[in-house]
Amino acid sequence: MTDVTITGGPSLPQERKLVTSIPGPKSQELLARKNAAVASGVGVALPVFTVAAGGGVMIDADGNSLIDLGSGIAVTGVGNSAPAVVDAVKKQVEQFTHTCFTVTPYDGYVEVAEKLNAITPGDHEKRSALFNTGAEAVENAIKIARHYTKKNAVVVFDHAYHGRTNLTMGMTAKNMPYKDGFGPFAPEIYRVPTSYPFRDGLSGAEAAKVALTQIEKQVGVANLAAIIIEPIQGEGGFIAPAEGFLPALQEWATRNGVVFILDEVQTGFARTGDLFAANHEGVVPDLMTLAKGIAGGLPLSAVTGRAEIMDSAHAGGLGGTYTGNPIACAAALATIETYETENLTERAREIGAIIEEFFAELQKDDDRIGEIRGRGAMMAVEFVESGSKAPNAALTGAIAKYAGEQGVVLLTCGTYGNVVRFLPPLSISDELLRDGLQVVADAITAAA
Ligand SMILES: *Cc1c(COP(=O)(O)O)cnc(C)c1O
Repeated sequence: MTDVTITGGPSLPQERKLVTSIPGPKSQELLARKNAAVASGVGVALPVFTVAAGGGVMIDADGNSLIDLGSGIAVTGVGNSAPAVVDAVKKQVEQFTHTCFTVTPYDGYVEVAEKLNAITPGDHEKRSALFNTGAEAVENAIKIARHYTKKNAVVVFDHAYHGRTNLTMGMTAKNMPYKDGFGPFAPEIYRVPTSYPFRDGLSGAEAAKVALTQIEKQVGVANLAAIIIEPIQGEGGFIAPAEGFLPALQEWATRNGVVFILDEVQTGFARTGDLFAANHEGVVPDLMTLAKGIAGGLPLSAVTGRAEIMDSAHAGGLGGTYTGNPIACAAALATIETYETENLTERAREIGAIIEEFFAELQKDDDRIGEIRGRGAMMAVEFVESGSKAPNAALTGAIAKYAGEQGVVLLTCGTYGNVVRFLPPLSISDELLRDGLQVVADAITAAA
């Protein structure tokens, strides 16, 4: 353990402050131990070891205060160690830590299910089932859709990311680092083109026609259990489909008795400026997968959807030892309440506006900024070679490296590795956000 003991949460000084180079000596020492003890496949983006975090900062083992523009991949939307979450977890951990809900149940799980049924899109009757991770939620959504339809085929999209388990690896598009050498993958997964306006130039209706024609010709409606798509693709590059694409898919799925699943694991819970990204386009999925932002950093995920589909699986068919852990449920209830009481959907829109405006200004003088896109506090910049749309992964990597060295935790993404993504906690201040963005601007200039 390190000798630094600090309490996290929003009362931490909200400042970027470097007292050593990044990573500092203590982080380097811990990194050496990590490399000797932890499997190499578990890589790290920025080797600073965290000792406390909150608001918009992370404190590392050397006492550096870094700006967090990643929220641990869109998880700590309410902020790290958010006071309401800390209180709820403390209370629950002192009551009981585990029973296994499918052995003897408890009310926290039921309350989370009730809450999710109430706040997700659509006013039809719903049921929820809780799990631990996003991948597990996706796996279960597919299980449920197959059981309900008695069909096998599942359609996924180019640039999709759905997780790292065997089924979800096969559903994920990108080979390195997610799939390479880890096969064989599960059968009956079919990939079709998505809507990527910056690169395909198609309208939503045109892109949907391409995808649906391919499904009809290559998969066959009679074989198809489900279509699953992220409303804004996350790891694939924060690709927001052209308007009308998602409604066209949904309409087709409904007409053909195919279960339409939205994977809102990354987009969910206020991140995009609405509680769910589906709401921006008025799309009502049959099933939804939820995780990341759901419980303030505790591991919890869910499938929520139409009662008749969710109830099709027999008792004992869904579950797991830890699924819907009581501490994670208590954290989820506090987290969801915090999104509401602190009006964090509005805050996400404000954060998005600041990021968009900032890069729109830079883009005027720098044609390597190919596109600025996203919604709310889920924004991205796609970098290209000057004068073309060729992906510029070298620049993107250089920006993330520079930002890390200057005390900004910045994530990249994209099938071509050329997208910088911004996922700040919604508890970040304007001042801190602008300081972080300026570091990114300096990084872009430095890489000229
Ligand atoms: C992160 C992610 C997953 C996988 O979630 P894990 O909790 O890492 O298993 C699935 N779908 C989407 C859209 C994601 O962003």
